[in-house]
Amino acid sequence: MNPDYQNFNKQFIERTGRSLSFAVQLADFSSFKIGGKADLFFEATSINELVEALRVARSNSIPHYVVGGGFNLLFDDLGFRGLIIKNSVEGVDMSGGDRITVKTGTSLKDMLGFCARKSLAGFEFLAGIPGTVGGAVYGNAGAFGESIGSYLIEAMILNKNEKKVRINREKFQFGYRDSILKKTRDTLLEVVFELRQGQAKIIQAGMENNIRVRENKHPPATVACAGSYFKNPFPPGEKKVAAAVLLDGIGAKRLKCGKAAVSEIHANFLINEGKASSKDVLQLAKKLKKQVKDRFGIILQEEVIYLPAESPKP
Ligand SMILES: Cc1cc2nc3c(=O)[nH]c(=O)nc-3n(C[C@H](O)[C@H](O)[C@H](O)COP(=O)(O)OP(=O)(O)OC[C@H]3O[C@@H](n4cnc5c(N)ncnc54)[C@H](O)[C@@H]3O)c2cc1C
Repeated sequence: MNPDYQNFNKQFIERTGRSLSFAVQLADFSSFKIGGKADLFFEATSINELVEALRVARSNSIPHYVVGGGFNLLFDDLGFRGLIIKNSVEGVDMSGGDRITVKTGTSLKDMLGFCARKSLAGFEFLAGIPGTVGGAVYGNAGAFGESIGSYLIEAMILNKNEKKVRINREKFQFGYRDSILKKTRDTLLEVVFELRQGQAKIIQAGMENNIRVRENKHPPATVACAGSYFKNPFPPGEKKVAAAVLLDGIGAKRLKCGKAAVSEIHANFLINEGKASSKDVLQLAKKLKKQVKDRFGIILQEEVIYLPAESPKP
C-alpha cells in the first residue's frame, strides 16, 4: 500500500474513529455496474463522520469524491486514485408546518414513504427515481415537468473552507438538471423542503401511478444503466426536444460499442450488457453525439457524470 495512505488512515481513524477500506471495487456502487478499484473508500453514517472525512481528506490533499446511490455516475475502468466517500447519512424529520428536514444520504424512496405517511403532497413526481436526496438536489432531479429544487427552502452544506453554512434556494441557481453545486462542488449535508397537506391515499396512488408510467417507458430495474444518458436539449429559439427522439432519428437502438449498447426500450438509456467497460460507454456516447450533430445540428450534453480515475488535487 502507498505509505502516504497508511499515514492518512492513521489520521483518519483519529478524526472519525473509523478506518478506511482499501482497493474497493466501484462497480459495486454504481447502477451501471462499471468501475475499477478506488484506492480508498469510506461509508459515512453520520453528518459528523461525513464532515470529518472531508476535512481530513482536504487537509492531506487527498483527491476525494462524494457519492450517493451511484445511479447517475459512470466510474472509470481504472477506479479512482484517492478517496470515495459514500454518503449513507439518513433520516427525515418534520420541521414545523409542512416542512421536512432530510439528511442527504436518505433515499428518495424513504423520503417519499415519510411524505405519504405524514400526508404531505408534492413529491409524487419523484416516485420511481432511484438515488439519494443529495444526488437528486445536486442534479435537480425531476420528471413529469417538475424538479426537486422547486421544493427546497434551505440547506446546510460544507463549503470549500470546510465551514458548515446554511444557504437558501436562490443560492442553488437551479436549472434543468443543474445546480450551483456542479460548479462549487460543496457537499450537501441536510436539506429543508416545503410540501403541502394532502390526503395519504391520494398521495400514495399518485406515486404508484407514476411508478407504473415509468415502468412502461424504461428498461426493467435489473438492467445495468444510469438512467437517461443525455439531457434533453433546448435548440436556440425552440422548445425542449427529447434526446430520445433525436436518438431514435439516427437509429440509435441498433448501435453498440463492445458490451455497451443502446436500450431497445428507450433510445436515451445506454446499458451495460454484461462486461462493458467505461471506455465502451464513452465511445458509444461519442458515436451517438456525432451522429445526432451530423443529422440534426444539435450537440447533446451528458446527464450521466463520468468520474475519471485521476482527478485534480483538491
Ligand atoms: C433507471 C433510472 C432512472 C432514472 N430516472 C431519472 C429521472 O426520471 N429523473 C432524473 O432526474 N434522474 C433520473 N435518474 C438518475 C438518478 O436517479 C438521479 O440523478 C439521482 O438523483 C442520482 O442520485 P444518486 O444518489 O444516485 O447520485 P450519485 O449518482 O451517487 O451522484 C450524482 C452526483 O451527485 C453528487 N452528489 C451526491 N450526493 C451529494 C451530496 N450529498 N452533496 C453534494 N453532491 C452530491 C455526486 O458527487 C455526483 O456528482 C435515473 C437513474 C436510473 C438508473
